[in-house]
Amino acid sequence: MNRAALHQISYGVYIVTSGKDGKFNGQIANSIVQVTSRPATLAICINKENYTHALIRESGKFVVSILSEAAPMAFIGLFGFKSGRDVDKLKGVKSKTGATGVPIVLDHALGFIEAEVAGELDGGTHTIFLGNVVEADLAGEGTPMTYAYYQNVKGGKSPKSAPTYEADAAAAKPKAPAAARYVCSICGYVYDPAEGDPDNGIAAGTRFEDVPDSWTCPVCGAEKKMFEVDR
Ligand code: FE
Repeated sequence: MNRAALHQISYGVYIVTSGKDGKFNGQIANSIVQVTSRPATLAICINKENYTHALIRESGKFVVSILSEAAPMAFIGLFGFKSGRDVDKLKGVKSKTGATGVPIVLDHALGFIEAEVAGELDGGTHTIFLGNVVEADLAGEGTPMTYAYYQNVKGGKSPKSAPTYEADAAAAKPKAPAAARYVCSICGYVYDPAEGDPDNGIAAGTRFEDVPDSWTCPVCGAEKKMFEVDR
């Protein structure tokens, strides 16, 4: 099997939120399709281990926010590389409550679609939820981010829980030239020695080799050893 063919499939980049009774979460998802037009129906693909999966099962509701190309990596990292079991991802994020009672993420969103679960299919590591659309609206202006744009222009990676994750690509580690830029193998954040990470006490001009081992990725929290040379 030539898996390169699978990499030619196009996706978007979305935030899926769910929950009820004050317990809410959201995550990045790329496998979302409109299945039918009338009535409007969506299919979304969610990893069974994700907190959002449990919340969709509990509430029977979910909301899809369509992200703009302008969404920064730190914002994507918050929803894509951190678990809602550990952090309140929606704290400090602009949102509103819609028809389903689920928070709708509005930051960097071009539009949103609210749905009620109408069925599900076991997809192995993932569940495919079918949702009847109950409300939808535009939320901002811009160009919707595609998964290819996220990877090629923004330098993003797939988390291990994504349907598109490739372990082989994440494992390759080349040798380091002096004062090289390093990239987080988990979220794609790039450490540039010229800039350092002043927000976390690393002065501009600090070589990656001289960054303390206790330092972690400012986007996803990965350990220093998870970084590899940016080629
Ligand atoms: Fe990271």
